[in-house]
Amino acid sequence: MAADPPARRYSCRGGVVTARKRTLMPAPTSRETCQACGSHGLPIRLTAGDESWRPRGCPRCGLRWLASPPTGEALLELYRSGFYEQRAPRASAIVMTLHRLNSRLRLMTLREQRPGRMLDIGCGKGHFLAAAREAGWDVRGVDLSAEAVDYARRTYGLDVRVGDVADLDLDERFDAVTLWHVLEHVADPGALIERSRSLLGPGGRLVISVPNAASLQARLAGVHWLHLDIPRHVFHFDLRSIHALLVGRGFEIERHDTFYPEMELAGLVQSVLNAAGGERDLIYRFLKQDPTVALNGRVATALVAAGLLIPGAAAWSLVAPLLDTGASLQVVARPV
Ligand SMILES: [Zn+2]
Repeated sequence: MAADPPARRYSCRGGVVTARKRTLMPAPTSRETCQACGSHGLPIRLTAGDESWRPRGCPRCGLRWLASPPTGEALLELYRSGFYEQRAPRASAIVMTLHRLNSRLRLMTLREQRPGRMLDIGCGKGHFLAAAREAGWDVRGVDLSAEAVDYARRTYGLDVRVGDVADLDLDERFDAVTLWHVLEHVADPGALIERSRSLLGPGGRLVISVPNAASLQARLAGVHWLHLDIPRHVFHFDLRSIHALLVGRGFEIERHDTFYPEMELAGLVQSVLNAAGGERDLIYRFLKQDPTVALNGRVATALVAAGLLIPGAAAWSLVAPLLDTGASLQVVARPV
């Protein structure tokens, strides 16, 4: 790789990082290569024991990833089972209220944009798109899950399509392309960023949200962190590595925040229970109707413990983003 030009200070709300403007990143040559900055990854510990996915860390930008993630049928099975299955969660009225609140929070990320055309990549059941449409956006969505897209069409009447955005023939250009908790799941985040860039019209913005691997709860919980979600989460980002990924593909970060109360609270409570020796992600899996978790004594005990932790966790969910160390990182970027 050619030598970098001199570093420049790069600032965005809530933090300052040092950035180097460089030519666009070539595609990584192997799974050992950092997708964000092109450096060679080093072996790291990312799980409590199973290292078969070969976790790697970038010594330069801090990106962490699995060099041998599940593929093919094994990958499909991971999304068919457990809490990614498309089944109604418990207490669905409460969950729908949370979806509405979350959607409003997500829209706040775009508060400086005048409503125009929006594409949500990985739109799921369309809860966010429905809220965006109410706020005046002309919305489209794509998702790999046919069941989720069917739900979005039937429930909200949304214009959403099944498929990989890399393959879909989209002749429109958008004022906002959004990737809510998608980037950590895909095999090639760099390619997805480039595809997103090609879909933006003049003045358009890319919005990315990912679990924040540099958050205080991630650093304290380590391998017990709920939002690690290995091996479904292949990539583990923080502001520095997201920045490297975006700069290398012709974007600059306009602003960022780490405010996402639902993830903060769930992550803190479940990670504490995990670290205390409880069964991995038990409460979360129970609430998401994981078919392998039924209501029994150990679930009831965990629910009581979670109830005791919630007040403190709720308070922390408001404090963490003020300290720029919340569990979820939101970034607004523009092409340069
Ligand atoms: Zn890197």
